[in-house]
Amino acid sequence: MGRKAKFNDGVLVKRGPGKKTKKQKDPIFPKALREGDESDDKKLSHRQKQRVRKRLQKKTRLVKTEEEAPEPVTESTWLTPSKSHDDTKIIPSSDDEESDEPQGFTDDNKQWLKPRKKQDSDDEESDNLKVGTLDDISDESSDDDLLPIEQQNKQLKQQQEEDDQLAEEELQMNIADQEKFKLPTKKEREQTASLQEVQQRIRDVVGVLSDFGKLRDKKHSRSDYLEMLKSDLCTYYSYNEFLMERFMQLFHLTELLEFLEASEVQRPLTIRTNSLKTRRRDLAQALINRGVNLDPVGKWSKVGLVVYSSQVPVGATPEYLAGHYIIQGASSLLPVMALAPQENERVLDMAAAPGGKASHIAALMKNTGVLFANDVNNDRIKAIVGNFHRLGVVNSVITCMDGRKFPAMLKGFDRVLLDAPCTGTGVIAKDQSVKTSKDEYDIQRCYNLQRELLLAAIDCLNAKSESGGYLVYSTCSVLPEENEWVIDYALKKRNVKLVDTGLEFGNEGFTSYRQFRFHPSLKLTKRFYPHTHNMDGFFVAKLKKFSNLIPKSNDDEDEKESKKEVNIETEEVVSKKPKIKEKCSKESKKEVEEEKEKIKEPKMNDESVEDKITSKNQKSRKRKSGGEKVVDEKLKPSTSQQKQEATKKKAENGMNWEDIPKEASLKLNKKMKMIAKKKQ
Ligand code: SAH
Repeated sequence: MGRKAKFNDGVLVKRGPGKKTKKQKDPIFPKALREGDESDDKKLSHRQKQRVRKRLQKKTRLVKTEEEAPEPVTESTWLTPSKSHDDTKIIPSSDDEESDEPQGFTDDNKQWLKPRKKQDSDDEESDNLKVGTLDDISDESSDDDLLPIEQQNKQLKQQQEEDDQLAEEELQMNIADQEKFKLPTKKEREQTASLQEVQQRIRDVVGVLSDFGKLRDKKHSRSDYLEMLKSDLCTYYSYNEFLMERFMQLFHLTELLEFLEASEVQRPLTIRTNSLKTRRRDLAQALINRGVNLDPVGKWSKVGLVVYSSQVPVGATPEYLAGHYIIQGASSLLPVMALAPQENERVLDMAAAPGGKASHIAALMKNTGVLFANDVNNDRIKAIVGNFHRLGVVNSVITCMDGRKFPAMLKGFDRVLLDAPCTGTGVIAKDQSVKTSKDEYDIQRCYNLQRELLLAAIDCLNAKSESGGYLVYSTCSVLPEENEWVIDYALKKRNVKLVDTGLEFGNEGFTSYRQFRFHPSLKLTKRFYPHTHNMDGFFVAKLKKFSNLIPKSNDDEDEKESKKEVNIETEEVVSKKPKIKEKCSKESKKEVEEEKEKIKEPKMNDESVEDKITSKNQKSRKRKSGGEKVVDEKLKPSTSQQKQEATKKKAENGMNWEDIPKEASLKLNKKMKMIAKKKQ
């Protein structure tokens, strides 16, 4: 056993009590041997020793890196710490040992730039803390400098960036899904739980159909996809399959979706200034003063105003009650504008209730001439009376009778408006019941009535009118069966030609649709859609009557045919198709263009045009009827016998305006009122 070394410079330690316990003195080492021993200065704890070791290691590493990269680290000025040792104490250190750290800014000491709060009191932890990059430091410092609102803004921007990124990822996923889309089985379809799923499937199917060759599943045909789409559209938009199919035949897929969407949204509220009582500018000012936010409906109308919002009910303002305006859809202005009634004319509105368009006609006529406003519905007639009183219409006779019988009572009008009863497929936003209540028979009923009313309306017109001889046919339906097909029918049955409506905008009417082929001049008709023109779906056609003669044809047979069941009728049209085509090819485009040129109001000379068109028409009729002689009134020799026959005919067919001197028209108005009252 050796003796224990004593490191206390020979200071005596108390010895034990007895001799036996006597110990040898501790060995004393000379000072020179004890150089470098730290115990002289201060006793360090184990942890402190560890830290010192670490620091030494770091120092050596730093020296090495400085040697490798002699260039000093350059930072932005506000980040560069001051060179003096004192300045490094800006943030006071809690530990004296910190003074041992390298002076000036280095990667080792940049931690001090961090907010003080974040420094952990525990030395060990703070030692283990990872020091962030300079960018981090600058960010954190700048965040501190920002105002709360700027910080919020920054957060929002970050969030938006994240959202954009997510949306982009979602889009990519959708595209990927689209490529993978497979038609669901019947079971899968039945299990569809939400409308969102249906909507997604609609998008998918439309996507596939838009590039069918590439994206299709070869097990399924196009009609499988279309069937799927139809049933999904019916579910999503709540239509019956019949009407949806009609719309699918009418529109391309993208347009179909636009139309369906637009039919879910109400059109803007529009009003028509009653020019009999006020001017649009004055009315607008008066309404603005009442808190109505409005604008002119467009350059195309001088009387229409669109109401964006209002603090008062627009249908109950003093101006409304005084008859300064009427609430009317923008599309309702179009047929009357196309009709262009003139002062002192005799005009008929065959289906007028509640009188929106009729009162517009009266306003354009400036309350002169005579306006007959007719409707078959007794209850709706009251609305005409009310509106006319309020709006100050005084040139009118209101009658209540079936329009089809009107020519038997009165004809010889300068202009006729037939705003026909229809299925209302253009105004679904107003009346959602159309979606489910219409079927094939409703459409058939409508177009049969429309055809009859149109022929009657044409018969009421006077082809020899000095200023007119025009008829406007309109419906609030988008179905060609109620529009182009009805006009095409009238072109064949009466001496009428289509003329330009004079409306600046609107889509061209159809000349072909499904199995139908219409006269090329149907291009002159106009179609308006909710998704394209932001107004109710509407159809407008303007016809010019060029002869009062009614061409003879197998009317009875035709009437019977048109009333047959729809299925039979469709087949019939197919079988008739070549004939119609033949007719169209015979009447070359050039010919139609010439006629368009000639039949233009108001420059044209009606008489000369009439003669030319009549002779052309005769030729074509002769061709059609296999040489049947149809002679125009003008070409007939005027014998007394024929005159007698003519008066007989007039007596049979009812009164004609031609027979009535203008002064007597007021008396007639009274008579008509009496008749109407009796009928009621
Ligand atoms: N032109 C009117 C709206 C007409 S709506 C306006 O702008 O205010 C279609 C109208 O046709 C309905 O009022 C309906 O009662 C009427 N009608 C239906 N069948 C008719 C017939 N056989 N003869 C005359 N009018 C008819």
